[in-house]
Amino acid sequence: MVKRFYVDQYVDRILVGDRVVLSRAITLAESTLPADQELAQEVLQRIMPHTGNSVRVGITGSPGVGKSTFIEVFGSLLVQEHHKKLAVLAIDPSSQRTGGSILGDKTRMAALATNPNAYIRPSPAGKSLGGVARHTREAILLCEAAGFNLIIIETVGVGQSETAVHSMVDYFLLLLLAGAGDELQGIKKGIMEMADCLAITKADGANFLKAKQARAEYQQALHLYPVAAAELAPQVQICSAQENTGMAEIWEAIAAYVTHTQQSHYFTQKRQEQNLYWLHQAIRSGLEDRFFSNPQVHAQLDNLKQKVATGELSPFLAASQLLGLA
Ligand code: GDP
Repeated sequence: MVKRFYVDQYVDRILVGDRVVLSRAITLAESTLPADQELAQEVLQRIMPHTGNSVRVGITGSPGVGKSTFIEVFGSLLVQEHHKKLAVLAIDPSSQRTGGSILGDKTRMAALATNPNAYIRPSPAGKSLGGVARHTREAILLCEAAGFNLIIIETVGVGQSETAVHSMVDYFLLLLLAGAGDELQGIKKGIMEMADCLAITKADGANFLKAKQARAEYQQALHLYPVAAAELAPQVQICSAQENTGMAEIWEAIAAYVTHTQQSHYFTQKRQEQNLYWLHQAIRSGLEDRFFSNPQVHAQLDNLKQKVATGELSPFLAASQLLGLA
């Protein structure tokens, strides 16, 4: 009875755009306490009919490329000129190591953070990227239910987090520096292939010509890539957050992409595929959690690990013995 009341309260307040309750619901979904999880999952299920009505944009790039400055300027344009309600979420795998989040830090996006039509949420802390990504996805749904119609998901362009972000967005924007070299920027070919748009940042001052040249080079390089599933060739843009240039062009590219893919139904198809991908991810991580929290597995694991490490026992036989316990 009491729980029902809580669920109703959460849902009602989120649906009228109450940001305090929205934040609380996101925290609840991030909680590892079983009672919180149960409540969070009920809230999520209840708000489902009110989700999906947004454009989800992933933004990645190496540290220092200008992500937060870009999001501050780009986001302000969209909120002010295009009357968007913007939520900025982050996936920051480094927060697992440092214990504190780098991305989504409110002080980095001061103007947006105080705008009533923008909502900034730092990266969830978590033991695994999978867990962090899952919470970000739940946060997307909660933000959509609260009326945010543009969701930006920011991540550092290193490691596996881009793949996680790519699996939850409609449009993927890769920020690059002119002249830094792809290897230097830690940009792997696979990430370039995921991008719907490459934007060369800091195209101002002495950097402007270099940025234009880099655009030509990337445009050339992209011709060698396979055509994206969306059948829209990736765009290459240049921009400067400092001089506020190139922002409108990037939004136009995103808006054109959304219109095109909605007409071709690719937009919906991709979201459906993403939902199924997340179903599989949730099943996989649920099985894993159940396996590792099994007391019998727990009791045997160290012993068997030791035997596998020294070659006394085959890893496959050890795994099947453990799986037999769970
Ligand atoms: P992030 O680590 O990718 O989030 O990068 P930041 O947004 O923190 O920016 C890194 C540095 O680049 C900061 O010192 C910014 O002032 C600078 N920066 C960001 N955008 C621009 C730009 O458009 N032009 C120039 N010249 N500098 C920029």
